[in-house]
Amino acid sequence: MGTQIAITAAVVGVGAYAWYLRSSSTNRDKPVFSSFGFHTLRLESAELINHNTKKLRFDLPDKSKPSGLSLTSALLTISFPNGRWLPVLRPYTPVNDLDEPGYIELMVKLYPGGKQSTHLHSLRPGDTLTFAPIKELAWKPNKHPHVALIAGGAGITPMYQLARGILNNPADQTRITLVWGVNTDEDIFLRDKFAAFERDHPGRFRAVYVVASPAAGSPHQKGFITKQILEGAGLSAREHKNRDVKVLVCGPPAMEKALKKRTGVLAELGYRPDQVYSF
Ligand SMILES: Cc1cc2nc3c(=O)[nH]c(=O)nc-3n(C[C@H](O)[C@H](O)[C@H](O)COP(=O)(O)OP(=O)(O)OC[C@H]3O[C@@H](n4cnc5c(N)ncnc54)[C@H](O)[C@@H]3O)c2cc1C
Repeated sequence: MGTQIAITAAVVGVGAYAWYLRSSSTNRDKPVFSSFGFHTLRLESAELINHNTKKLRFDLPDKSKPSGLSLTSALLTISFPNGRWLPVLRPYTPVNDLDEPGYIELMVKLYPGGKQSTHLHSLRPGDTLTFAPIKELAWKPNKHPHVALIAGGAGITPMYQLARGILNNPADQTRITLVWGVNTDEDIFLRDKFAAFERDHPGRFRAVYVVASPAAGSPHQKGFITKQILEGAGLSAREHKNRDVKVLVCGPPAMEKALKKRTGVLAELGYRPDQVYSF
C-alpha cells in the first residue's frame, strides 16, 4: 500500500520531471538519492543470473558516494519503451549494500509481455534509465525481536535488502525468518547469499523455500505459502513467543491477497493488521 501511494505521488510529480533533472545537477554534495528527485543513470553491466532474471548495475554520478538510500527503500523507474507517449513507472529494489559507493544493482525478473521488465532486459551497457527514490518501511533496529519476511517470486528483493541491512549492523539483534515461494528450483537465485547468512549468523537467520513445481529430488517443500507452511516455519502468532513478530510481505497480488485479507492466512495464524506491512 505504501508503495502505491508513493507511485501515485510520483506520477503526479512526473510533470516536474524536467525541473528535477535540472535541479539535481545543482546539489552535488549529497548522495544522489538522499532526497526526492529524478536522476538518469548509465547502465554499467547486465548479467543473466538464471533463466529469467538479470542483474543490472548502474553507475552513480559520484563514484565516491553511496546512493543515499536508507533501509528500506526502492527506486521508481521511469521509461518510455518503444516510443510510448505515457511513461511506464515500476518500483525495483537495489540489492547491493546500501553503504557501497559508486553504483546500484537491481535484480529484475522478466515477465512475458511485461512493459518495464522487458524494457529493462533490453538495456545494454551505456544505455540510461531514470530513477526516483521511494521510502518504504523505515527500519528501526531492535524495534521487533523477530521479523518474518514472506516473499513470492521477484518480491524477494526488498526482503534481501532488509535481511542484509539487519545482519550487517552489529547493533541490530533482530531475528529473521524468510519464507520464499517460487515456481521452480531454478528461481531461487539468491540461495548462496541466504546460505551465507545462515552460516554466518546462526540462530539469527533462517530461510525456508516453497516451490510450486519442484524438480525431481528437490529438497524443498512443494506448493504455495499456506498456513501449514508458516506454522511449520515457526511463525504462528498464537505462540506466545511470536506475539511481537513483525510480518513483511511482497509478492504477486494473488499471494498477497491470500495472506492479508480479513479472513486470510495471517489472520488465521493470529496476526493483527498492525503487525503486517506490505511492500
Ligand atoms: C516495492 C516493490 C519492489 C519491487 N522490486 C522488484 C525487484 O527488485 N525486481 C523485480 O523483478 N521486480 C520488482 N518488483 C516488481 C516490479 O515493480 C514490476 O511489477 C514487475 O517487474 C512487472 O512489471 P512489468 O511492467 O514488466 O509487467 P506489467 O506490464 O505490469 O505486467 C505484465 C504481466 O506480468 C504479470 N505480473 C506483473 N507483475 C507481477 C508480479 N509481481 N508477480 C507476478 N506476475 C506479475 C501481470 O499479471 C501481467 O500479466 C517490485 C515491486 C514492488 C511493489
